[in-house]
Amino acid sequence: MNSTIVRKSWTAAFLLLLAIPSFSKLSAQERRTHEVGIIAHRGYWRTAGSSQNSRVSLQKAQDLDLFGSEIDVWLTTDGVVMVNHDNKYDGVVLEKSTSDVCRQLVLSNGEFMPTLPELLELIATRPSGTKLIIEVKPHSTPERDRAAADSAMALVRRYGLEREVEYISFSLHACNRLVQNDAKAKVAYLNGDKAPAELHALGHAGIDYHVNAFRKHPEWVAEAHALGMYVNVWTVDDEASIQEMIRLGVDYITTNEPVRTRRLIAR
Ligand code: MG
Repeated sequence: MNSTIVRKSWTAAFLLLLAIPSFSKLSAQERRTHEVGIIAHRGYWRTAGSSQNSRVSLQKAQDLDLFGSEIDVWLTTDGVVMVNHDNKYDGVVLEKSTSDVCRQLVLSNGEFMPTLPELLELIATRPSGTKLIIEVKPHSTPERDRAAADSAMALVRRYGLEREVEYISFSLHACNRLVQNDAKAKVAYLNGDKAPAELHALGHAGIDYHVNAFRKHPEWVAEAHALGMYVNVWTVDDEASIQEMIRLGVDYITTNEPVRTRRLIAR
């Protein structure tokens, strides 16, 4: 190596050292433009051996090292938090049934329907940074929404996973209850009908809206960021929409196609 190359290498190293502190001083807004987090919608289930809202779908999301894996939860009559998307499975209405009945339900991949504690156990024991995004489903009454929110949060606390979990809901009753229970909890409302400022005033940490809500109100992304709130969009699977939302500046994309989304973000 001649002396000119050595000198140039030292100069490059010196400039790099100067650049590192300035990168760390990037504002949250600037940093957002560097990375978009991927959340697997109902876990990573469009892959062999998996099924929506199953243990395997969480494990597959963890294996991809995604930002998050989303699940849907219902409270049974005996106070157990079950994991399933619809209010009903094989004719069993989850919130009107006991956990004994719900636990016997078999998913398409052969697993029994999981409980929230079983998935929290996976978050606690598997080496992964993937967060569990818990959607508290709207139950039959506001009281039931709040009871489901209380039960889910109590379980998260029991496992000491407050930092590994975030919450979402279409129920404002559930969202507000979660914030009241833990002001530091990351809670985002799903229904797409409220401007960020209104939710910020309620203590919500983010907004999580359907892609069409952001097409109608693209200004809500900047408004949320200006308030220090994060922005998540659901459920974005096709290439054009994924690119559209990346350009719009969302922080997280909830998708049934995490591998495709990752490829597009990398590009
Ligand atoms: Mg959901």
